[in-house]
Amino acid sequence: MTPSNYRYSAFIDAIQAQITQHGEQIAALDQAIGDGDHLINLQRGLKALNDQLESLDRLDLSAALSQTGMTLMSTMGGASGSLYGSLFVAMGQQIKDQPINLTTLAAAFNAGVASVKARGKADIGEKTMLDTLIPVASELTDKAAKDEKLLPLLEAVKQAAETGMQSTKAMLATKGRASFLGERARGHIDPGARTSQLIITAIADVLVAQNA
Ligand code: ADP
Ligand code: MG
Repeated sequence: MTPSNYRYSAFIDAIQAQITQHGEQIAALDQAIGDGDHLINLQRGLKALNDQLESLDRLDLSAALSQTGMTLMSTMGGASGSLYGSLFVAMGQQIKDQPINLTTLAAAFNAGVASVKARGKADIGEKTMLDTLIPVASELTDKAAKDEKLLPLLEAVKQAAETGMQSTKAMLATKGRASFLGERARGHIDPGARTSQLIITAIADVLVAQNA
């Protein structure tokens, strides 16, 4: 990927398509172990982004990521609004004034995930979106350091997101609303882990299509 050959709004469109396609399942997951609003929260944020596509496409990547994060923070609501918001804001800050390549993108994603960990006071194994995000950050760092080619790297990232998301099914929740359920949360995938995996898959698929 070179700095000039992406259109930011293509990623937002792809994310929206994935979330819409899996909307019923996302809603059902938060009904099972939360309060049922995760899909609506995310759709509210995506709708606000959809209204800004032209301005997002005019910004450089750093500014577009920061604007994405601030929009999600101010429109989504729910725990996930501030968490997804800080993910994108921190990515935008990290990539500022940097060249865009796999190493700097991996560093930006890691900074985003570190910000979610700090904001949520959570880590891997607590049945949250971090069970998708942390393995993806590790995989990206590892594959970028090994100078892996883009397409196998994207496949590895998608696989890490899928495995991480699925891992939440067997977990007890220790953060967020699901933590009130104790053993009853077991057997359900965490909704935020699922939406994180769908977002990562959407971004990876756009990059695969552009680079195939
Ligand atoms: P709310 O829980 O306020 O209703 P949402 O339903 O939109 O907000 O989002 C719930 C998701 O947010 C969970 O599935 C989980 O992935 C994520 N989440 C909640 N609390 C935390 C936390 N402390 N750290 C990381 N992720 C969290
Ligand atoms: Mg909820």
